[in-house]
Amino acid sequence: MLPKWTTRDCEIYPIREGKSFSGYSFLIQQNSNYMLIDTGRKKSREMLLHKIEKILGPNNLAGIILTHSHIDHAENTAWFKKKFRCPVIIHQSEAEYLKKGLNPLKGGTNPMVRFLIKTLGKTIQAKYEFDGVTPDLLVDQRLDLKTMGINGYIIHTPGHTPGSMSVIIEDEVAIIGDALIKLLKWPIFPPFSENKKTMTESLAKLIDTGAEIFLPSHGREIKRKMMVKYYHKQKQDH
Ligand SMILES: [Zn+2]
Repeated sequence: MLPKWTTRDCEIYPIREGKSFSGYSFLIQQNSNYMLIDTGRKKSREMLLHKIEKILGPNNLAGIILTHSHIDHAENTAWFKKKFRCPVIIHQSEAEYLKKGLNPLKGGTNPMVRFLIKTLGKTIQAKYEFDGVTPDLLVDQRLDLKTMGINGYIIHTPGHTPGSMSVIIEDEVAIIGDALIKLLKWPIFPPFSENKKTMTESLAKLIDTGAEIFLPSHGREIKRKMMVKYYHKQKQDH
């Protein structure tokens, strides 16, 4: 289980969705300002809401950021938006997916997954449709969160999906969605990803932020040294 992270002025609360391989949402706090990153699966929404409300106390969310529109990150967005009446932020290239409640699904990082997506992609997409919602703020390359009371910014880190984004808090901690996963000792690219080369370029962008800790949605934190090592290995492979 991930611990809570503290930067100079912010707290980063991992909100765990379930046991073992299921993912994390994150709640960022600076003073009485809070933002939620990713919204989890429908089956866990009451539990997630309970955990979030416990941390929020009398405060409200200033916004919901989606690292991308895969169902395990976005299924509760419509529901949470209604509950908290706050803006939803997503990359511009995934706005249509979110409106329709669709998963971006292309590519694959290995031949087996590529074959699966090619043959069953449409079926998988249909099986995992979710309640769509119109986003309020669209990101292109970068969005500063200062106006929402958080010392941080969002950057576009595509490759897993075309509109994947990461959130950098005080140049110390990066919340990276599915840019990498780390369920075992070493991080890996998630197999259901669109473009390995673009993912590798996004790792360079993440390293350039100067962050020391990278938090994926699935698994444990990745320290800077390991991130740099993984990046160089991927770069050699292409
Ligand atoms: Zn994903």
